[in-house]
Amino acid sequence: MGNQLNGRCLCGEVSYRVEERFHAFYLCHCAQCQKVTGSGFAANILTSPDNINWLSGSDKITNYEDSLRSFSKAFCQICGSGVPHINKSGTNLVVPAGSLVDQPLKSPTANLFHPESPRWLKHGLLAKSFDGYPE
Ligand SMILES: [Zn+2]
Ligand SMILES: [Zn+2]
Repeated sequence: MGNQLNGRCLCGEVSYRVEERFHAFYLCHCAQCQKVTGSGFAANILTSPDNINWLSGSDKITNYEDSLRSFSKAFCQICGSGVPHINKSGTNLVVPAGSLVDQPLKSPTANLFHPESPRWLKHGLLAKSFDGYPE
């Protein structure tokens, strides 16, 4: 048995638990991930399709499948947060890293579709940092 990690969406309706036996941890910079996150990249952990214990709200999840690149996404119907889902080919459970409450021990293993990364992301990571909103 691996380390147990809890996860939930922002509103708390959807919650789950996964065991930390992860195959990969990808930061994906593709154009689809930028659209679906509204940000610069998606952070997705891959694990076995059966490695999920839904604690609540599994009936509050909507799945979206895009025709490009076998891209799929699942989100909470109430708050829109990305939540775990089985990929289109059925080979992996995709866990959005930001939906985890507990920090995984594993670090990202690769950056995917890196040439599609927006120019502002690299510059943004080097910008001045604040503990909260700027004064
Ligand atoms: Zn939610
Ligand atoms: Zn992507």
